Amino acid sequence: VRAYVKDYCRRNGLLTLSVFAVVTGCVLGFVLRTFNLSTQAKIYFSFPGELLMRMLKMLILPLITSSLMSGLSAMDTKASGPVMTSADALLDLIRNMIPSNLIEATFQQYRTDLVPIIQNSDVKESQANFVYVMPDYHNPQLGHPVFLEITPAPDLKYKIVPSTSKGMNVLGIVIFSATMGLLLGKMGERGAPLVNVCQCVNECVMKIINAAMWYFPFGIVFLVAGKILDMHDPAHLGEKLGMYFITVLSGLFVHGLILLPLFYFFFTRKNPFAYIRGLLQALVIALATSSSSATLPITMKCLLENCGVDRQIARFVLPVGATINMDGTALYEAVAAIFIAQVNEYDLDFGQLVTISITATAASIGAAGIPQAGLVTMVIVLTSVGLPPADISLIVAIDWVLDRFRTMINVLGDALAAGIMCHLCKKDFERAATTVAVPDPTPN
Ligand code: ASP
Repeated sequence: VRAYVKDYCRRNGLLTLSVFAVVTGCVLGFVLRTFNLSTQAKIYFSFPGELLMRMLKMLILPLITSSLMSGLSAMDTKASGPVMTSADALLDLIRNMIPSNLIEATFQQYRTDLVPIIQNSDVKESQANFVYVMPDYHNPQLGHPVFLEITPAPDLKYKIVPSTSKGMNVLGIVIFSATMGLLLGKMGERGAPLVNVCQCVNECVMKIINAAMWYFPFGIVFLVAGKILDMHDPAHLGEKLGMYFITVLSGLFVHGLILLPLFYFFFTRKNPFAYIRGLLQALVIALATSSSSATLPITMKCLLENCGVDRQIARFVLPVGATINMDGTALYEAVAAIFIAQVNEYDLDFGQLVTISITATAASIGAAGIPQAGLVTMVIVLTSVGLPPADISLIVAIDWVLDRFRTMINVLGDALAAGIMCHLCKKDFERAATTVAVPDPTPN
């Protein structure tokens, strides 16, 4: 047994260290709570964890743009039917998501916004038109922010990609890069230089991830401990929110360990748990960071190196999935809304329950892959059935814990979807290969 454990730790050193780091972080956090540290001390203490978050965030933008642009441009349309169909379907979906009156309202706003900018600065009208495709999504008359996020609203003076300090508009970046990738693929020779650049950037990002991985366990200890130091009184919360907490966790557990694996098995006829084993490192990082976008680089690495997912498929499915496919968030938002209804002694009928499930799914699509984004988009779910949005405050104190677990399920859902997609595409790859391999019987 000792030899086996030793061999396992050697092969899975980093994973073992990361799990150990989560446990150490929890213990350290609870021990330090007894010392009543000052706010200043807590800030210093959280520094290594903050560094880890920043390292991961730094990689998101180059990873998504280079992955999607090189991945989609290199896609052989014949060989990768399902991926191309999904890429086209995604673009169609986005087209249909924008009702024409929203576009009209948006452009009306755009004209009003642009005139003073062109008059008062040295930006030419053509430049302004190019970068300022739609106004900032903070404008409330223009409908739900998610519609507007599909086009990044850049900072006019400085850059085309929107500011990362406000939180990155990942959905907008995914759409922009996917469109560029598809078009570059169609340009052939002329697009090749840019595709090469993207491939180099992608390779560099993966190398940075490999190097940074060894810092992760250290950062995780402080990230987890720092959060526990900031926590409200756990005994008091347990009394009030215990059942809600257990319901969300059991739902996530059933979804992640039973439903999603069944789904994977149904499509691929392969052992889902063998696949999930290759993803453990990404799941630990999701648990530590509560951000599926920040985990994206590690999920990508796990899929390519441990799960044998095709590079082109991982490059397309993961960034899109990390942005719009959030099973864990949808599940949690529905349970939370029902909990808030119960606290208010508000009886929900069947129709309202259906409304909650639909709006929770829509709200999870709109949630960004960042910590506690789901808590914000839950306003949509609550208002859809007439519950007071301010009651989010009832669950806010323990949300950071649930957030970690639902992020794990979000990451798991994306990774399994990539595995299924890879399996479905394999048939197409094989069909394309046999079509090429059959010699032409016609004599010269
Ligand atoms: N933290 C989640 C994620 O990054 C989103 C959420 O549910 O708050 O996937």
